[in-house]
Amino acid sequence: MAYLHVLREFTHTLLARLPAVCGLCQGSARGGQLCRYCHQAVTQTMLSSAPRCPVCQLVLGRRNVCPDCARHTPAFDRVIAAFDYAAPGDLLIHRLKVQRQFTSASMLAGLLADAVQASRPALPAQAVLVPVPSSRAAILRRGFNPAAEVAHSLARRLQRPYRPGLVLRRREGVKQAQLGRAARMRSVQALYGCPQRLQGAHIAVVDDVLTTGSTLHSVAQALKSAGAASVWGLVLARTPSSADACEALPGPGSLR
Ligand SMILES: [Zn+2]
Ligand SMILES: [Zn+2]
Repeated sequence: MAYLHVLREFTHTLLARLPAVCGLCQGSARGGQLCRYCHQAVTQTMLSSAPRCPVCQLVLGRRNVCPDCARHTPAFDRVIAAFDYAAPGDLLIHRLKVQRQFTSASMLAGLLADAVQASRPALPAQAVLVPVPSSRAAILRRGFNPAAEVAHSLARRLQRPYRPGLVLRRREGVKQAQLGRAARMRSVQALYGCPQRLQGAHIAVVDDVLTTGSTLHSVAQALKSAGAASVWGLVLARTPSSADACEALPGPGSLR
């Protein structure tokens, strides 16, 4: 696998030096990145001062309390998201997951790295990065795990350890795309496990989209049962509406 890592590094270095087209507007951009205009368009809502839940990053609007976290206390401690799952950022997720443009994972990891570095409170310095594992069926369908591609690139950018084996799937589970919140919670119950003790470790779980938070909750339960001191969620996109409002949507984060 070492040659794959070298090839990946070489491609990244080469891309960063070449003039290229923006992944959204086809205007000029550097090194497979978004142009300045599209970068701002994708990240502007996350950078605005609109109040958000400090745990799951849901936009609160006029509410004082996060309806998602109030209804079901999450096992994770905090989420950092690069952008809201809304136009035009949702198109980037679609291209990664549905059109299988796995090369866009590096650019998306760059957006998430910016969000992690700007986060206050900061991600613990010792945090280890772990991707949410895909089902075998999804890997066969796509040929790769989008969360793992993003996590690997993010770990390199942040110079943090990358340990994909810390979270394992115990069974295949069901595709969550058509499930509502309650059904999603049931479907991921005890779905994930941790094969080793993690006494006092700080873990950052990387995923593409946070919708209901049920997957991240289930992964965090497994990690905390293994002794993790804290579990952070690092996600590319956060759905901007409450989980209830998202029940009717085709689950962006559940196409795994
Ligand atoms: Zn652009
Ligand atoms: Zn919340």
